[in-house]
Amino acid sequence: MLFLHEPSIPEFVYIHYPVCQHHCSYCDFNVRSRKSLAAEFSDSFTDKWLEAIEKHLQSLWRDSSKQSILRSLYLGGGTPSLLEPEQLRRLLDILSKFYDLSKLEEFSLEANPENLNLQKIQAYRDLKISRLSLGVQSWEPIELKRLERLATYSQMEKCIEDIRGYFENFNLDLMIGIPNQNIESLKRSLDKLLSYSPPHLSVYLLTIASEHIWFQSKTMKPLIPKDELAAEFYEIVSQRLGAASYEHYEVSNFAKSSYRSLHNSNYWNTRSSYLGLGPGAHSYFANPPTRCFNILDMKSWLESETGFAETEKLSEEQQAIEEMYLRLRTRKGLEFSDFDASLVGQLVDEGLLERQSSDTFSIAEQHWALLDAIAGRLLRGRLARK
Ligand code: SF4
Repeated sequence: MLFLHEPSIPEFVYIHYPVCQHHCSYCDFNVRSRKSLAAEFSDSFTDKWLEAIEKHLQSLWRDSSKQSILRSLYLGGGTPSLLEPEQLRRLLDILSKFYDLSKLEEFSLEANPENLNLQKIQAYRDLKISRLSLGVQSWEPIELKRLERLATYSQMEKCIEDIRGYFENFNLDLMIGIPNQNIESLKRSLDKLLSYSPPHLSVYLLTIASEHIWFQSKTMKPLIPKDELAAEFYEIVSQRLGAASYEHYEVSNFAKSSYRSLHNSNYWNTRSSYLGLGPGAHSYFANPPTRCFNILDMKSWLESETGFAETEKLSEEQQAIEEMYLRLRTRKGLEFSDFDASLVGQLVDEGLLERQSSDTFSIAEQHWALLDAIAGRLLRGRLARK
């Protein structure tokens, strides 16, 4: 069992709200529809979720005597914008029993346009949320339909305008690899999003499990963009955003100067400890390097003492592999000397890797979409050397 003691209390906290208005058929996040949770927990799931967060914090803080500083709070999901301001206030009251919230540098909340209105946006701002991340995904009717998005165009437009009025810092999500997407439709969506001058854009590649119904359908399967087309989409996005002065600071993330996400940058760069609360979230404790995975099942998570399902101490090899992935995600670069020279040479010749200096290499930016495949080849080569 793990209990937190100062100074090991993480200053970064992620909280997973596992509720969505509708469970999109392709989504493999640990979420449930509001309706199905209401059927199982008689409309009180969010109350129970809040109680469980408090219980888990209490059990983790058991031996700790004072509040720790919270630098970053990230509310993700699921759809945290389904939380009413009053519920969010209760969550902050709970956190304030364990954390000093006065030094919060970033407070992010993921939102969908259909659950936001001006009043809620104002209330969120008053609760000191500093960064809203809005799931837009596309501006094309057929693509939005495929993604089972619920917002209308007028809701999306009004929502972004309202956010711009109250938040200096906000992110818009764009998706690539949607069935039927083509270069022209991608450019139209990208231009529309850029017309709002968002300080930050996240661009995700839609990955669909091979057992999904789309892969079984004779009409749908051919519409799913192949890897080469997805890579082309990715290159278009990188070039267009680079030309618009966005820094491509992580494989899926682009920021105007000084708008990098502090919370996510901690995952990728500094790797201070972070605490994950909520079903299916995970935590990382830097000293000693340990990862804790939370229980996935809603009922079991609500009932458990700490929320943790498993705790894993990371071996040196595991740490090295994680470090390799993170370095590839951020183009920090890897040392040639850690890898088989002929394998790296081959990947450079194929144009997948590029030399950064005489000692280091990274993935060529236009091939970042192939990160998993390239990392897999490097990893197999590394393991074969041992
Ligand atoms: S709204 Fe987002 S998180 Fe929720 S089911 Fe759909 S894709 Fe998944």
